Amino acid sequence: MINFNVGPSKVYPAIQNFLQEAYETGILGLPHRSQEFMDMMKKVIFLLKQKLQIPPQYTIIFASSATECWEILAQSLVVSKSYHLLNGAFGEKWYQYTHYLHRKSEKHVFEINDSLDVERIQTFFTFAERRSGKAELEDKALICFTQNETSNGTQVPLEIIKQVQENFPKQLIAVDATSSMAGIEFAWQNADIWYASVQKCFGLPAGLAIMVLSEKAVARVYEIGEHKHYNSLLKLCEQIQKFQTTHTPNVLGLYLLMRVMENNENIKDIDKKIRIRAENWYRFFEKHPYFRPLIHNEKVRSSTVIALQGKPERIAAIKEKAKQAGFRLGNGYDKWKENTFRIANFPAISEQEIKQLQDFFLQTELE
Ligand SMILES: *Cc1c(COP(=O)(O)O)cnc(C)c1O
Repeated sequence: MINFNVGPSKVYPAIQNFLQEAYETGILGLPHRSQEFMDMMKKVIFLLKQKLQIPPQYTIIFASSATECWEILAQSLVVSKSYHLLNGAFGEKWYQYTHYLHRKSEKHVFEINDSLDVERIQTFFTFAERRSGKAELEDKALICFTQNETSNGTQVPLEIIKQVQENFPKQLIAVDATSSMAGIEFAWQNADIWYASVQKCFGLPAGLAIMVLSEKAVARVYEIGEHKHYNSLLKLCEQIQKFQTTHTPNVLGLYLLMRVMENNENIKDIDKKIRIRAENWYRFFEKHPYFRPLIHNEKVRSSTVIALQGKPERIAAIKEKAKQAGFRLGNGYDKWKENTFRIANFPAISEQEIKQLQDFFLQTELE
């Protein structure tokens, strides 16, 4: 089965050998306070910074999922309020989990084909502040973007995040990059918190998440000093200084991440490849008889998750036929469940596999 699901997604074929290796090297039973573990952790962090071009002064910590990252941020970095700019199911969930803990958190929902712009974001903040009787955004507010909204195949252009940072230099900007980190290149310095789980663009099995923090974010973590949870960001930051974790971590996941990053090209090259492939997918479906890109606005189309729209009967039929032909497609999600399906454009998928799937689409006739 060739996996085009958008997460969990195709793992790098080399994982098979890395698993064997992990067993043979005895890494699986490594005590997480041992020197060997700390050496491995150090190497994982070094490789992430090197291959993803993360600035050296940024801190990297690990969690078990992007969902856990939502909770960690709500616990440790939201003081009273966060502002969520969202247009889909994952952004909404992030907002929901934060709202459970902070009733004053606000969301601004935009349409999937809309390009966000700084004026609109400013207007949202202004109205939100008026509701709470304040003139301007609190310095400690957390501004939240879902950079790549996996549920509908949109992305927030990095330029917008940059402009928001220029306009709001005191606040922290947090970015859910779960389905784009390690797929496209980021301007890391334009946000303070970036996180992702590894079962999407990293081409790894699920069960590990990566959070990247600016110096400003780490300083804020210490300033707030929240330490009531096993996964309080303060404790995670303290432990990682020693290349350790707060609890026994997913050692196998860390090992696989290390080996995959060792083998991977630099993000600049991966980014180039992913963008060309995305262009190719969109062009392919712009002339397809049954399915069209869900997103018309080219500026906000995701490079890593291609969402296709069609009649619900045809969506059901194509998924079934694809399965018989040996392809796993991604289902539609949430309110796009029936009338869309999704194709992962993640780095672990090969050129040849894409060709095979395109041939399948060209050859398959539907009612
Ligand atoms: C997949 C995904 C998540 C959830 O990831 P988990 O690892 O299942 O917690 C969160 N946000 C986005 C944008 C995603 O694509």
